[in-house]
Amino acid sequence: MSAPASLPVFPGTFDAAGRPATLGVMGGGQLGRMFVHAAQRLGYFTAVLDPDQQSPAGRVSHHHIAFAYGDAQGLAQLAAVCAAVTTEFENVPASALQTLAGSCPVAPGAAAVAIAQDRIQEKSHFTASAGVAGVTCAPYAVIETPDQLKAVPANLLPGILKTARMGYDGKGQMRVKDRNELAAAWAELEHVACVLEKMLPLKAECSVIVARGWDGAIVAFPPQRNLHVDGILAVTEVYEGNMPPALAARAQAATKAIAHHIGYVGVLCVEFFVIDDGSADGALVVNEMAPRPHNSGHYTMDACDVSQFDLQVHAMAGLPLPAPRQHSPAIMLNLLGDVWFDAAGNARTPDWQAVLALPGAHLHLYGKSEARPGRKMGHLTITGHDVAGVRATARQAASILGLPGIKDAG
Ligand code: ATP
Ligand code: MG
Repeated sequence: MSAPASLPVFPGTFDAAGRPATLGVMGGGQLGRMFVHAAQRLGYFTAVLDPDQQSPAGRVSHHHIAFAYGDAQGLAQLAAVCAAVTTEFENVPASALQTLAGSCPVAPGAAAVAIAQDRIQEKSHFTASAGVAGVTCAPYAVIETPDQLKAVPANLLPGILKTARMGYDGKGQMRVKDRNELAAAWAELEHVACVLEKMLPLKAECSVIVARGWDGAIVAFPPQRNLHVDGILAVTEVYEGNMPPALAARAQAATKAIAHHIGYVGVLCVEFFVIDDGSADGALVVNEMAPRPHNSGHYTMDACDVSQFDLQVHAMAGLPLPAPRQHSPAIMLNLLGDVWFDAAGNARTPDWQAVLALPGAHLHLYGKSEARPGRKMGHLTITGHDVAGVRATARQAASILGLPGIKDAG
């Protein structure tokens, strides 16, 4: 796809009427906030559309347009100030992106976001594209009707029933052992469209982030190795040797194929499972994609010479996409609201004095005023010279903060 005529949008420029080059983002969460920071560092002005007056990104942006995502007035205001628009979450109505595209370049486009919003479409897309790199998705069945429920093949059980739309952080998912549990789970999910996925023996999980430009140029970060706890990302580790090299290469190739197949423009993250198939490396299975920067890519801000948010800015604005170089091994620890409570459930302030004294500790807090269990409040990235040192510091940080699951981070 060639770039719209209004691109590139050069940073730090003003039009004849004195209006600054402004980039917009749909959504005001932490991903929007880190996008805003990256855009502003380059000299852009920013606009955020989010109905929440206290949104993390709205609080740091030049413009905060507080309307619902589908509201025509809000979209008109956003289009009026922005030279290009992106999104920070996949559940914005695709029709809103379509509307905006009538006024300014939008990356990623409505069609790509629509695929990522729907697990059924997403899986067909993976079959058509990732298969090129020899990577399949988990065996699954679509369940939209009682007949489809009855026809589920026995080999998909035990499995995980996932709503086709609106799932995140393990929400909208139920683990089921047999047909009775499956029927009960589908009833509990109010018979919305779902997919049943076979429960796979996971050896590990990983993700790959790429950025693709309007001209089809693509750059990739190295695969991130991820540890989830209770369906939410807890730890990301990125350094040489975090994964078998052959698997890492295949995950990158599959991600690029997925992006090329739909002419994707912007930053894309694809999540993979590594399953135990008896081989030494294990086999790669594609799980899902996010049409935006991803939690597993936050380490890029501190460990790479260009971050996933910098590349989001470059891609949407039609600027060149430099290949990122990771200069330090990194471990990222997610900071959920749980960290703000002690074992007895009393509110506390985490011991930032001790955390910030650690070498190579980069603390990012998202400006959310209320901590709740499971809510993403911030993250901590540890960088250093060598993997052993980074691991040791990450363990110290986890012990100071009382984080679960870090044992598996080495
Ligand atoms: P996200 O926040 O990444 O969007 P999500 O709610 O969309 O999460 P998934 O990525 O589908 O959920 O699943 C969450 C986690 O549950 C996975 O990272 C993995 O740990 C586990 N999981 C999901 N599907 C399977 C499967 N088929 N077999 C084994 N484990 C699975
Ligand atoms: Mg996921």
